[in-house]
Amino acid sequence: MPAAATPPTPVTGWGRTAPTAARLVRPRTYEEAAVAVLAGGARGSIARGLGRAYGDAAQNAGGAVLDMTGLDRIRTIDAEAGVVVCEAGVSLHRLMEVLLPLGWFVPVTPGTRYVTVGGAIGADIHGKNHHGSGAFSRHVRALDLLTADGTVHRLTPTDALFWATAGGMGLTGVILAAELRLHPVQTSLMAVDTERAADLDDLMARLTATDHRYRYSVAWIDLLARGARTGRAVLTRGDHAPREALRGRADRTPLRFAPLRLPPAPPHFPGGLLNRLSVSAFNELWYRRAPRHRTGEVQSIAKFFHPLDGVPHWNRIYGRGGFVQYQFVVGHGQEETLRRVVRRIADRGCPSFLAVLKRFGEADPGWLSFPLPGWTLALDIPAGLPGLAGFLDELDEEVAAAGGRVYLAKDARVRPQLLESMYARLPDFRALRREIDPEGVFVSDLSRRLNL
Ligand SMILES: Cc1cc2nc3c(=O)[nH]c(=O)nc-3n(C[C@H](O)[C@H](O)[C@H](O)COP(=O)(O)OP(=O)(O)OC[C@H]3O[C@@H](n4cnc5c(N)ncnc54)[C@H](O)[C@@H]3O)c2cc1C
Repeated sequence: MPAAATPPTPVTGWGRTAPTAARLVRPRTYEEAAVAVLAGGARGSIARGLGRAYGDAAQNAGGAVLDMTGLDRIRTIDAEAGVVVCEAGVSLHRLMEVLLPLGWFVPVTPGTRYVTVGGAIGADIHGKNHHGSGAFSRHVRALDLLTADGTVHRLTPTDALFWATAGGMGLTGVILAAELRLHPVQTSLMAVDTERAADLDDLMARLTATDHRYRYSVAWIDLLARGARTGRAVLTRGDHAPREALRGRADRTPLRFAPLRLPPAPPHFPGGLLNRLSVSAFNELWYRRAPRHRTGEVQSIAKFFHPLDGVPHWNRIYGRGGFVQYQFVVGHGQEETLRRVVRRIADRGCPSFLAVLKRFGEADPGWLSFPLPGWTLALDIPAGLPGLAGFLDELDEEVAAAGGRVYLAKDARVRPQLLESMYARLPDFRALRREIDPEGVFVSDLSRRLNL
């Protein structure tokens, strides 16, 4: 029995900009996924996980969107070696629920655990450990990929198609399952050091000098602060807490994982509440409340990695117009570009809650993987901000001129002309797609917009 398709239904990314309508199909087996792809029709198909990409990567106007959350079985766990084999629709949240009690953690987690394994490979996501561990796909030992002709290929890192698929935004085919290497942990808690940085230069100096001492590192930066305080930040870094760091109840259940969830944000949030004044007051309070220097605080995984996951649908606080997440990376040696961009954002007064600055490690082998060794900044901006499109186009020009790039999993608006200079292997990616998918079966709003 083929999986039933819905009538055309509006689909958006997490930023809720640019919804488009597609038929949704939810396959539960390899066969159902193959039938859905072969029946995709003239407007083709794209796989979708939990829709946490901010822009239009998991949308397909007028075509089919394969909701992969129906393939959500964890097949095998090797608790000795730390290897899990699971279907691509399993979320990282589910993996944590199952694996933490066994003493294992996912190799890379983004700022939300509500992403699927397929989405994690499709965008080749990075986490707070990129400087030491690289992006997600480095920890994938094998994957099953359904290609345009309906066949399933078992790929390993020795295959070119593996590295075109890692970060390939679903455009090489549908990832059906993957085998992942895990990270051993003694507890489900984190030991965290926190410090404040007075401005951007202070922050970069601290990250450069001591990031190598920490497995995880991230800076929350106040982009509304100006003048001598431009780029002030709170730096949080840490590692999984060792058993001896726990006290009391935590010591009796060291591997317990039960994150709290508050009620969801209301569906209709007045977008106008977020303005320069209200966000600036929030950022000020948050900066003042952070300790100047604190070491070894024990925190939950949810608090350290996924502070926003506690409020379901928090993306509604930007109102109906939605929001854009702008994330770029520039290499080491391009600090002046970073300073200039941060100053421009601060001078422009974008009402942006805490932005995130990270120092990436080595570039990843995925052909369209985002990370480059250097500095990455991510910030949320309400989509209705007057003049936003032109402003971000100017920032793109600066980033591209510095040899940097924007992140496709966050993007909803970059101009296609800049993409080739940002992603050097884009011509190889296009050539491989023409070879394995000559009819253009896999297509998304993102791929049409950017001619991927
Ligand atoms: C609060 C928040 C914090 C975030 N923090 C980070 C971060 O720190 N680092 C980071 O890298 N990203 C981050 N992201 C982005 C997120 O990790 C990625 O967009 C991820 O791809 C989302 O996974 P998903 O399952 O929701 O996939 P979707 O958003 O549904 O899809 C994303 C892409 O993956 C493809 N895809 C999905 N499933 C499959 C499949 N089975 N086969 C083939 N392709 C597939 C889709 O076609 C699409 O191109 C964050 C997002 C949010 C909302």
